[in-house]
Parts: sequence; structure tokens; C-alpha cells
Amino acid sequence: MTPLRAVKGMHDLLPADIHRWQDLESRFRATVQRYGFGEIRTPIVEPTQLFVRSIGASTDIVEKEMYSFHDKADKSLTLRPEGTASCVRAFLEHRMSGQQPTQRWYYLGPMYRRERPAKGRYRQFFQAGVEVFGDPGPYVDAEIVEMLVGFLEQVGVPNVSVAINSLGSGTTRERYRHALLEYLTPHREALSADSQRRLESNALRVLDSKAPQDQDIVREAPRISEYLEPDDAEHFRQFSECLVALDIPFVVEPRLVRGLDYYSRTLFEVRSDSDGLGAQNAICGGGRYDGLVETLGGPSTPAIGFALGIERVLMASRSAVAPQTADAFIISAQPELRTEALLVATELRNAGLHALADLRGTSVKSQMRRADKSGAGFAVILGTDERDRGVVQVKQLEDQGQQHEVPRHALATHLASKARM
Ligand code: AMP
Repeated sequence: MTPLRAVKGMHDLLPADIHRWQDLESRFRATVQRYGFGEIRTPIVEPTQLFVRSIGASTDIVEKEMYSFHDKADKSLTLRPEGTASCVRAFLEHRMSGQQPTQRWYYLGPMYRRERPAKGRYRQFFQAGVEVFGDPGPYVDAEIVEMLVGFLEQVGVPNVSVAINSLGSGTTRERYRHALLEYLTPHREALSADSQRRLESNALRVLDSKAPQDQDIVREAPRISEYLEPDDAEHFRQFSECLVALDIPFVVEPRLVRGLDYYSRTLFEVRSDSDGLGAQNAICGGGRYDGLVETLGGPSTPAIGFALGIERVLMASRSAVAPQTADAFIISAQPELRTEALLVATELRNAGLHALADLRGTSVKSQMRRADKSGAGFAVILGTDERDRGVVQVKQLEDQGQQHEVPRHALATHLASKARM
């Protein structure tokens, strides 16, 4: 029988490695909560149409990468490839626009895209993201970039760089699309098959193409900055100025478009040149999607958000996170003392301490070996003699520590005072 394995591009996260994830997640939560964001958890499965209508039918994600299936009632469902579309659906479904002038949401969770797996590129990956509804910017745009950069520095991502651009709004986009078509059409035959197809459906996406033959052509393409309407240009100017005031270094990349159709005006991408990342150096992408709520049937609502890839942040980060170790490892000198060992462990846990015990009835030597390996601060040794006298032996495990007797009733207080030292 062929052994069962996880789906290609999807990975188990084992307990031995999870502490770095948990540390990152709790720092993310703590950061965004300081900026007033509240958590939203949406379903992992959504109607396929949600992504087709929001991300765009001619994007890589929708054309090639979605995990879509028909359920028993023949409904087309899709494992979410990103978080924004679900947030907008929830925003509409719960009639949020009528409740508060602005909403600040954050999320953490797995996303699914059937991309070609590579280092830093998976088919199940985790994103942490935020969305702000109801604020047209540009000040909030700078606020979330500042929050993001501060977070990445805090978690030890080196040499973070921020690239920004503006896609303008409706009329800018239309005028630019024409200019781009005019420029690209004579090069049509030299473009990749995907880009030739997109020329009609969505010319802007050609700028985002990774095909080398497209990149040579795109390099000379007109820049969207030359087509921005005055109010779009002003929005972008104020956003940039605000980043300068906040002391966030950035570069303007006139051809930054990113792979989702719903963006308008502010767009940004954050990268790191950390050795850990390799070719996949984009850590976070974000931008404004002022038209999306309306596209999905809601009232006109400006909005902006970003999503960062947790795997990539962990690959880039140089911070070491020590796994949590136990305060005490309980050892029973005789197998009949295992109930006693369990009672002591329970007492310590109820006192808020982290206690381990090996309850299989193995030798003291083997239990001591496990205690040493566990990284616990102390071994608590129970023997029949000690039990009769109402005491336990406490042995410091590091530095060839000393051993001394502690009254059983005072054990939790004794260990708690050591744990605080
Ligand atoms: P996007 O949702 O495409 O704007 O991506 C935002 C961030 O998610 C990227 O900058 C990456 O850090 C991460 N990301 C996107 N796709 C993948 C993937 N297939 N595997 C791992 N991380 C990804």
C-alpha cells in the first residue's frame, strides 16, 4: 500500500517547531490590537463566485490556482485563496456599513492556492492580515504601513524595504489601460501566451507577468503615474509625505500592480533581503480597494488592507524564540507512587506552574534522563520514605544543581519563587 502523505505543497507544523509560530501570532495580535483592530474569523470555504467577482476572472489565482469543488448539492465552493474577499462578504452580510463609520478587522489563518511549490511558496500557507473599512485615506494608508514595518522589525525581519505605487481610481485606470494597450499591441507576438490573452481581458496584469520575454517589453511601458487624475495624484502625494513624516523609507515603483484586480489607488509591497528567503522575497502585499464593497453589492465604501505571509516572515526572521520549558519534572521512585506523582503534578499545574511527569513506571534513571532532556528547571523526586515524612526532594537540573528537601505542602510556593528568579 502506498503510504499516505500530506497533499503536495501542504505541510504539518509539529509541536517542536510551533513556538516560533505562536510567538509571531501573539506579537501580531498584540500589535494590531494596539491600533484598534478586532479579530474576524471567516469560513475557510466560500462560494466560488465570491473570488471570481472580487479577485477577478482573469487573474492567475482565479484562472489557475483555486481549489474549487462541487459539494453534494452541486454548489461550487472554493478553499479561500486570500482573506480580503471573505472580509468584504462578511462586512456586507452583517450590514457593517450602517454600524460604525469605520471598521478595523484583522485575521490569521490558512489560505490555499495551487501554485507550483517552491521554497517559500506553498499550496497551503498562512496569512496574517488587516482590513480598514470606511476611511478613504491617505493617512490611514500610511498608518497601516507604519504598523506593518514596526511589526516586521519587532519580529526580527532584517532589511525591510517598502515599495509603493498608486493605481489611481476608475478614470485613471481606464486612460492608462488604453495607453498600455496602445504600447503593448505592436509587441503582441513577442508576449507570452498568458499575456497575449490578458491583453484584451486585463492589460494591467501584463505588468505583473513573471515571464522573462514579457518583462523586457514591460520595462519600456508607459507609467501609471503619468496618467493619475489630479485627486489621485494628490492622494498619492499625501500618502508618500506621511510615510516620510513617519520616517518609513520607501521606493516608488511605477510598475507595481500586484496580482489581484480589486486594487485602486494606494498599493504597496514589503520585501526583505534576508538570506532565509531566497527568490520569494515578498513578505507582504497590500493596498486600497475602494470599489470592492460596491462591486459585491454594497454601498460605496473606501477600504484598504494588507496580508503578510507567515511562513516567509519566519524564514526571514533572525530572532531566536526559545521554546517554553517546564518548571518541574515529577519523578516517582517507585511505580506505586504514580498516583502521588499525578497529584503533585496537578497541584503544581493548578498553581499556574508548568509540570511534566513520566507516568509509565520506568526506572528512576530513565525518568531522570527524560527530565534532563525536557529542559525542566527542577526534578521533584517522590519516594515512599519522603511520602511518609510529608516531604519531596527537589533537584535543580541545570548546572549540576543541588538537591534539598522541601515540605510537600510548600512545594508549589517554593517552585513558583524559583520560577520568578
Ligand atoms: P497576496 O495575497 O498574493 O497579496 O500575498 C501576500 C503575501 O502572502 C505574500 O507577500 C507572501 O508573503 C504570502 N504568500 C502569497 N502566496 C503564497 C504562497 N503560495 N506560499 C507562501 N506564501 C505566500
